[in-house]
Amino acid sequence: MTDHAVVIAGGGPTGLMLAGELALAGVDVVIVERRTSQDLDGSRARGLLPRTIEVLDQRGIAERFVSAGQVSPAHGFALIRFDISDLPTRHNYVLGLLQSHFERILAGWVAELGVPIVRGCEVVGLSQDAGGVDVELSGATTLRAKYLVGCDGGRSLVRKAAGIDFPGLDPSTSWMIAEVEMDEKPELGFRRDSAGTHALGPAEGGLVGVLITERDVAHPGEPGIDDLRQALIAVYGTDYGLRRARWISRFTDMARQAGAYRQGRVLVAGDAAHIHPPHGGQGMGTGVQDAVNLGWKLAQVVHGTSPESLLDTYHAERHPVGARVLHNTSAQVALSSPDDRHQALRDVMAELLALDEPRRRIAAMLCGLDIHYDLGEGHPLLGRRMPDLDVHTADGPTRVFALLHGARPVLLNLGAPGGFDMSPWASRVRFVDARHEGAWELPVLGEVAAPPAVLIRPDGHVAWAGDLGDPELPRALAMWFGAELDLSTR
Ligand SMILES: Cc1cc2nc3c(=O)[nH]c(=O)nc-3n(C[C@H](O)[C@H](O)[C@H](O)COP(=O)(O)OP(=O)(O)OC[C@H]3O[C@@H](n4cnc5c(N)ncnc54)[C@H](O)[C@@H]3O)c2cc1C
Repeated sequence: MTDHAVVIAGGGPTGLMLAGELALAGVDVVIVERRTSQDLDGSRARGLLPRTIEVLDQRGIAERFVSAGQVSPAHGFALIRFDISDLPTRHNYVLGLLQSHFERILAGWVAELGVPIVRGCEVVGLSQDAGGVDVELSGATTLRAKYLVGCDGGRSLVRKAAGIDFPGLDPSTSWMIAEVEMDEKPELGFRRDSAGTHALGPAEGGLVGVLITERDVAHPGEPGIDDLRQALIAVYGTDYGLRRARWISRFTDMARQAGAYRQGRVLVAGDAAHIHPPHGGQGMGTGVQDAVNLGWKLAQVVHGTSPESLLDTYHAERHPVGARVLHNTSAQVALSSPDDRHQALRDVMAELLALDEPRRRIAAMLCGLDIHYDLGEGHPLLGRRMPDLDVHTADGPTRVFALLHGARPVLLNLGAPGGFDMSPWASRVRFVDARHEGAWELPVLGEVAAPPAVLIRPDGHVAWAGDLGDPELPRALAMWFGAELDLSTR
């Protein structure tokens, strides 16, 4: 007997998104969160990138975030700025939005979906057997679940307790980050010296945001106000009358990734699965997209529609994506070094990024729009994200992302109406006859010939594309959405 089908450890961005996906699929899920409220003392993330906004759009909630943030048409790679407004997406911008706001809005959606959150409570241990997982909580209580997902951040207790290794690069640089009150008004902006880049900027509530590159990476524990004062004086020659810090923290360029995203009935996602330098603002979005990849798969396994082996595709698809983020952020750290030789390298890179082809390629990578899961040979769309086309259906004009709001798979037929017997999958996959005028433009690939039909997974990735008579179609439906139902026995 289980208390819940799925327990999620951690209600940060990743855990919240996963809870929403599972709730949409009708799974009994609970979040266990250490914090007593969703409030954050300070925000690490300050922005969202296009593919993350697209996945929110696929659930019909993007506007909640967009209306609360600031849109900018430019992004950067290692301090080199470039335009992203010609990327082929409706969300061709960076959305400036503090993590605290992002979490508040996402938590609101999760509450509407009725997911319970046990707050002020920690996951402190676990043990799994063939039938489920015993999740040990602070307060000497235990929850029994079919699956446990660790969305509990970079120091993940779940990852460690499941015995999942976390190899990678040790830190070479450390940064202090804070939101403070100062008696004097400092000049806001960037400053570079032989240690690296430092910044002073506006923070919520009229406070000043501080970022200081530290010369020493071997620090004992979390920094305090005296450490910050000394660091300010070392860089700026003054502490600007530092009075109070609402939040002080430290991060490094350490880059580590879980060797396995699944260990039996225990899975990890978000920072619990990968940590990397914040360059390019990709961490929170990668976690949210992990959740959207895992949610529907876990739901189908919990419901018994698909075998447990479907969960292995979560690691197979998302581990390479995480590895690529570690790789590009490590490159950005190297390129950001303050010495003259690295400046020369940055100049060369800036020349390259002024050219359209390299700029679009790097922009699509940073923005997560070029993600291509290896689903074998086939149409160029296979494994890539489905573009948000305007289509005409029997119910009138709509867009592809609107068809995905319920987090259910869609077989989109753009050819002659009908022509395929959907009845064995009708309860699981939505069949939509639609028309679309014009070619499809994909990031990096450019224009591709539109296939007559396309099978779209709930995460928005294409599981099959071709003609409805293709014998691969029933195979793809069975592989991703469960064996065909034998209707003769009903
Ligand atoms: C300086 C900086 C700037 C950044 N900027 C950006 C950016 O602009 N854009 C971007 O996309 N990303 C950015 N990131 C990365 C982003 O902050 C993280 O990737 C993101 O917070 C990860 O979300 P998460 O839910 O996986 O983990 P977390 O945010 O760490 O959430 C984990 C949650 O689990 C809870 N928890 C931990 N242990 C337990 C336990 N044992 N039991 C119960 N609950 C537990 C915690 O309280 C927390 O709520 C930045 C990071 C840094 C350091």
